[in-house]
Amino acid sequence: MKRHNFSAGPCVLPGSVLQKASEAVINFDNGLSLLEISHRSKPFVDIMENARALALELLGLEGKGYKALFLQGGASTQFLMVALNMLEKRAGYLNTGTWSDKAIKEARIYDDIYEVASSKDANYNYIPKGYDIPSDYDYFHCTSNNTIFGTQMKEFPNAPIPMVCDMSSDIFSRQLDFSKFDIIYAGAQKNMGPAGTTLVVIKEDVLGKVSRKIPSMMDYKVHISKSSMFNTPPVFAVYTSMLTLEWLKGLGGISAIEKENEKKAQLIYSEIDLNPLFKGFATKADRSTMNATFTLANEDLKETFETMVKEAGINGLNGHRSVGGYRASMYNALTLESVGVLVDVMSELERKA
Ligand code: PLP
Repeated sequence: MKRHNFSAGPCVLPGSVLQKASEAVINFDNGLSLLEISHRSKPFVDIMENARALALELLGLEGKGYKALFLQGGASTQFLMVALNMLEKRAGYLNTGTWSDKAIKEARIYDDIYEVASSKDANYNYIPKGYDIPSDYDYFHCTSNNTIFGTQMKEFPNAPIPMVCDMSSDIFSRQLDFSKFDIIYAGAQKNMGPAGTTLVVIKEDVLGKVSRKIPSMMDYKVHISKSSMFNTPPVFAVYTSMLTLEWLKGLGGISAIEKENEKKAQLIYSEIDLNPLFKGFATKADRSTMNATFTLANEDLKETFETMVKEAGINGLNGHRSVGGYRASMYNALTLESVGVLVDVMSELERKA
């Protein structure tokens, strides 16, 4: 049976990417597996360089003073790397969910953090607006898409200071002016590849302004100077990410996938709004195109709905424990057809109830 993977991550990957990646595990270069070759060998150095270049190209950041790195430790390590590399006195953070909150907690270890605004008061079901960003702070940090709560920033402030953004759950899904940001980071495991690598895109001229000593593995400048090969890179995750970025480029890039993502989001949200058995969690204006969060209006239907979901081959629909209900994650490689299957189950429930 065809499976429809709505998991919040690790994500769904295109079939062609999985096929090529699995072949490379068996035989990549003259009978050797991708996992057996030296990361310093030309075939892998080419992969790393291609992946870095493709990331910048797709984001429209080539030739604009940015460097792309594929690092390890997940987006969670970026919470502290950003602070170590950028925080001298004080930074401003927008608190829009669990991941922003964690980023704030890590940065607070190093210095003073000011929450410019927070939506914690409403269990993060909206994106705060109309806040000020002080011009004498070191940087402003925000989370473009809140994976757990299903909210997404539709607009970004014009910060008078460097902007840092955690784009883990919506990178490469929609066209933005990426040059607004000085540091963008994203764990691979939503829209790029398997867990194990994190893309970090940095405008080089924002670095080197803090007085603290930074351990080498935590220092962006060290990673840049070593072309993202300071230590042994996660070869499989980088290779698979490169294949996904090639796939995306072949489709027509971010603007092409954005159209598909909008269609998918429109399909699910119109069902949530029209079907009286479901209630959306996030405020309408701030709804995410990547993660749609919703609950059942009548919990008595839980078992029936979940059985129908399972029978339809739908996977990964459970909501995060801090929201409850359901979360349909619709990353780039999930098809409109899969969203249609879920919507059919939801409307079938209405007919049955
Ligand atoms: N930031 C966001 C927006 C996320 O969705 C996640 C994970 O889901 C993280 C950070 C943490 O990423 P990692 O598990 O790679 O550390």
